[in-house]
Amino acid sequence: MALFSKLIKCGHCGGNFKVKKERGKIKYICSKYDNYRNCKRISVEENFILDLIETRYDKKFTEKEIRGIIDYIEIFDKIKNKEGEDLHILNIYFKNDKPIILSENFLQL
Ligand SMILES: [Zn+2]
Repeated sequence: MALFSKLIKCGHCGGNFKVKKERGKIKYICSKYDNYRNCKRISVEENFILDLIETRYDKKFTEKEIRGIIDYIEIFDKIKNKEGEDLHILNIYFKNDKPIILSENFLQL
């Protein structure tokens, strides 16, 4: 099972993101988009989310620990900034801590 299976929700349709392996990388994508092209095409790499969590707590987590602390993750968009880099817009909600929030002009890590 992938690390964030069933923990990621789409901010547009409310459906689950599903796991997809692309060129050896584990990614998550809205299942409504992937199955029916019926939502926005937003994908996020597993390592990107994991890095955010490990940066906040400054430690490595096991899969069991990760699944123990995360309530759910909601993903809204992925846009390009002025420098042409990917900018993720998402919230990571924890069971017992304030969320990690990434938005266009606001960051709570
Ligand atoms: Zn969706």
